[in-house]
Amino acid sequence: MVNYETVVGLEVHMQINTKSKVFCECSTQFGAEPNINTCVICTSQPGAIPILNKKAVEAIVKTGLALDFNINKQCTFARKQYFYPDVPKNYQITQSEPPLCSRGKLTISVGGKEKVVNITRIHLEEDAGKLVHEIGSRKLGYSLLDLNRASVGLMELVTEPELSSPEETLEFLTELKNIVGYLGTSECSMEEGKMRCDVNVSIRPVGQKELGARVEIKNMNSLSGIRDAITYEVERQKEVLESNGKLVQETRLWEAEEGVTKSMRSKEGALDYRYFPEPDLVPFDLPDSFIEELRKQIPELPKARKARFIKDYGLSEYDADYLTSTRTIADYYEGALNYSKDKKVLAKPLSNWISTELSAKLNAAKVCISESPVSSQNLAKLVSLILNGTISGKIAKTVFEEMYEKSSDPETIVKEKELSQISDETVITKMCEESIAESPKAVAEFRSGKERAVDAIVGLVMKRSKGQANPQIVNRILLEKLKV
Ligand code: ADP
Ligand code: MG
Ligand code: ZN
Repeated sequence: MVNYETVVGLEVHMQINTKSKVFCECSTQFGAEPNINTCVICTSQPGAIPILNKKAVEAIVKTGLALDFNINKQCTFARKQYFYPDVPKNYQITQSEPPLCSRGKLTISVGGKEKVVNITRIHLEEDAGKLVHEIGSRKLGYSLLDLNRASVGLMELVTEPELSSPEETLEFLTELKNIVGYLGTSECSMEEGKMRCDVNVSIRPVGQKELGARVEIKNMNSLSGIRDAITYEVERQKEVLESNGKLVQETRLWEAEEGVTKSMRSKEGALDYRYFPEPDLVPFDLPDSFIEELRKQIPELPKARKARFIKDYGLSEYDADYLTSTRTIADYYEGALNYSKDKKVLAKPLSNWISTELSAKLNAAKVCISESPVSSQNLAKLVSLILNGTISGKIAKTVFEEMYEKSSDPETIVKEKELSQISDETVITKMCEESIAESPKAVAEFRSGKERAVDAIVGLVMKRSKGQANPQIVNRILLEKLKV
């Protein structure tokens, strides 16, 4: 029996987060009516000249800087020829040599072990249009062409073949999505096709240096699909080798429903893109000042922010992970903490409110935390009201409901509805006495040694006070009364 190891390399296409396309002024809006966002440039009318979107170059350079890339100042474009109706020009404008960014890296951590994954390049490329073969579930029998996506800017990132399992691959993509999300250079949403992956998979006997023949699985658009496709492909390749077969370099497609990959074309059928310099876009050099300005704009990245949350606020690894999972959650959290003088005291309960109560509401309504009806300031106020004993945790949930419905201030709600916790001992004593008088059975049980019988009386007092009596004081006074 030979032991094999898995080798994976990725080509990731991420839609650059710009308002307009990369070579014209058309909108990049998702889900528009077909062919609404088009013009003479992105539909390739004769004589139309592409004009480079500066913001797209900025996004790629920024992403490159965050991933430790060398930025190539020389900016050149090339034509990549292929004949398919989704590219009306019959070529795509892309970058060949040099790409904007060369030799970067990303550190991932799987099973407690850190690993540096080398990334070959990031370059700019324009997207193709989309062929539509069915509308809803109705097969058309002919194809329609939607050019809304044609010429939308993409950054294409290519890794070295250094990932060695489905877990590492998913961790790499998740980490990449996090960083790019923090930078805001792409939304990376796989559901909207804003992040698509070609996954290259091969195996080789453990210890062998030389790489095995690779299979390229095209156009993957979900993490679970990528995991399943790699797992399937590795098993398939092992079976071929173990039955003395030979693996060939080929392109395969993942059939999600059947859970298998199917051959699409072999190396012999591989496309020759016949790259040549794009004559309509003049090469130019990026000024140093342009690059340095972008370097300054790079925010604190997820790993660093998580480490700081743990150190500064005393949060657990788990809580810090959740709170830094997106920049908007982290900003909301720190925004809330900034309203408090004692951040460490507020840190943990505030984290709990965000990860449970608030996120449940937001998820149910599919609202992003940056648009939360409960502002970070109001959530901080609510948690402070609990911490300083003004309201109980139970009342806080009622207050929170109203805050969410009406975006209102918790202090106002507590005042208007007279929800403050009752801590006045004379008032509580009176309620305790009344409740004891009503509960002869529980009192007898308590006095015969069944201490838990007091819970029923606590319940009565809480009901009398409409949930507002301070439970610690109620407990103490009841025990004092019952023990005499
Ligand atoms: P192409 O442009 O033809 O797709 P590249 O050499 O640019 O070829 O490689 C594309 C991707 O394939 C890269 O992400 C690289 O890491 C990966 N790759 C190359 N060889 C292998 C291999 N033997 N096994 C797995 N991945 C590989
Ligand atoms: Mg490829
Ligand atoms: Zn256009």
